[in-house]
Amino acid sequence: MVLLSPAERDAVVARLRRAGCVWAEDETRLLVEAADGPEALVGLVDRRVTGEPLEYLLGWAEFCGERVTVEPGVFVPRARTALLVSAATAVTGPAAAVVELCCGSGAIIRALARRLAAPRLLAAVDVDPAAAACARRNLADLAVPVFAGDLFDPLPAAWRGSLDLVVANAPYVPTAALDLLPAESRRYEAPMALDGGPDGLAVLRRVAAAALSWLAPGGHLVVEVGEVQVDGFRAVLAGAGLVPAVVRDDALDATAMTACRPGCGRHAGPGRAARR
Ligand code: GLN
Repeated sequence: MVLLSPAERDAVVARLRRAGCVWAEDETRLLVEAADGPEALVGLVDRRVTGEPLEYLLGWAEFCGERVTVEPGVFVPRARTALLVSAATAVTGPAAAVVELCCGSGAIIRALARRLAAPRLLAAVDVDPAAAACARRNLADLAVPVFAGDLFDPLPAAWRGSLDLVVANAPYVPTAALDLLPAESRRYEAPMALDGGPDGLAVLRRVAAAALSWLAPGGHLVVEVGEVQVDGFRAVLAGAGLVPAVVRDDALDATAMTACRPGCGRHAGPGRAARR
């Protein structure tokens, strides 16, 4: 925290505003709070005006009401992904076994850990060692193990067929659209956290193909997709033997898809949330 005179504070706000920061007042407050001295503050503002994401400068992002640690390159959790969290919570009962794939910072499983009733197993996976290390830091107080590896590969084989919920905010941006992302994403986030291959579904297709054998009967896969990908991914999920449903939130500009492994009525579809 740095103590600034009103004139010094106004100068920081003006500099951020000139650089195109829409929320310059808020960003000033957060950077002043994060800096441990006047020189550190100048350094942070210098980096911000060159376009470095605020979250990397602060070292945290807000997600579902909590501050989650983010580290350089690790995907910054987006507000829209709160829809995936609420969709997953709505289809999952108590004492669930839950795995987050493509976990990045681990923000989703952290939010689920706080919302689900007494989950019996929580774990996260990311192929990027930097993301896995960041997730370990975010999940240490919850004692959630984080595996480094590709999708389901690093999970204990004994978990096959027993997961009640698998969540993933997998990369889904079509490769050709990466250039259209905001510069903050393009320049600072790891491309592997964003690049979903030619149609954006390359990773999600592999998640869907493996999900049936890892889910328990009645268990759900819940993912985020781009709105234009809904029809394509619905067909992928159905082809993988799962029963898909779409959840859309226009205010968040978010689309999530749930997909149930058909099975015992105990864990049946979205209706069950209403019964609880
Ligand atoms: N740009 C997308 C977003 O902001 C990327 C998400 C993804 O690929 N998982 O939500």
